[in-house]
Amino acid sequence: MNPLLEFDEVNKYFGETHVLKDVSLDIEDQDVTVVVGPSGSGKSTLLRCANRLEEIQGGEIRLDGESISDPKADINVLRQRIGMVFQSFNLFPHKTALENVTLAPRKVRGLDDDVAEARGEELLDRVGLSAQLNSYPNQLSGGQQQRVAIARALAMDPKVMLFDEVTSALDPELVGEVLEVMRTLADEGMTMMVVTHEMGFAREVGDRIVLMSDGRIVETGEPKQFFESPETDRGKRFLSKIL
Ligand code: ADP
Ligand code: MG
Repeated sequence: MNPLLEFDEVNKYFGETHVLKDVSLDIEDQDVTVVVGPSGSGKSTLLRCANRLEEIQGGEIRLDGESISDPKADINVLRQRIGMVFQSFNLFPHKTALENVTLAPRKVRGLDDDVAEARGEELLDRVGLSAQLNSYPNQLSGGQQQRVAIARALAMDPKVMLFDEVTSALDPELVGEVLEVMRTLADEGMTMMVVTHEMGFAREVGDRIVLMSDGRIVETGEPKQFFESPETDRGKRFLSKIL
């Protein structure tokens, strides 16, 4: 069987700057792949290429064996299949939590309002926000807003969820509730690619750790092995700085 998401010798440049260098990575169905590495190593760019927020200049990215980096691939279909959550929540400020979650299913997938709403309520309940359906973003804490953003991404029934430092902008006391939602999703079998500095989460929830440095994948391993006995000098140095 194909991996669900495949990065095959991916190369990405910003102008002259080579930011992804022959990156190959297979994301298996239902696996949680945690991408770690120093700032500027290319983690966000890698996720953004998978969602076509950035174009690549070499190699191929495939979902279910189908090229998604092909210029002819339908970006709208692709973005329904790959959900993404960012550090900044980017909710629509003048829409309620429920409206934020139901907007794309109504507009893009053409769901009837009542169907979209029933599903939206179910998703907001799943992220612990059934009491906040009608709240506006500015009435919600950062942790609550981020959980709405997760529910909004899930509303398109994606096959893969990408998370880019989704807890980095949160006050420390709000980080746990967001990680808990992600942990539940992982337990339910969602395929996830997670960029995070939360090493506890990486170790407990990750099936695989991928270390990036200077645009390359320099080490991959199971969490226990990666955190206890990294194989590369780069891995050892990374861990000595963060642990
Ligand atoms: P990370 O998420 O690991 O911190 P990024 O993927 O954001 O790293 O960045 C990788 C490299 O690409 C960095 O050198 C960064 O400066 C550069 N970069 C990222 N986005 C852009 C952009 N839009 N234009 C030019 N350079 C960029
Ligand atoms: Mg980043």
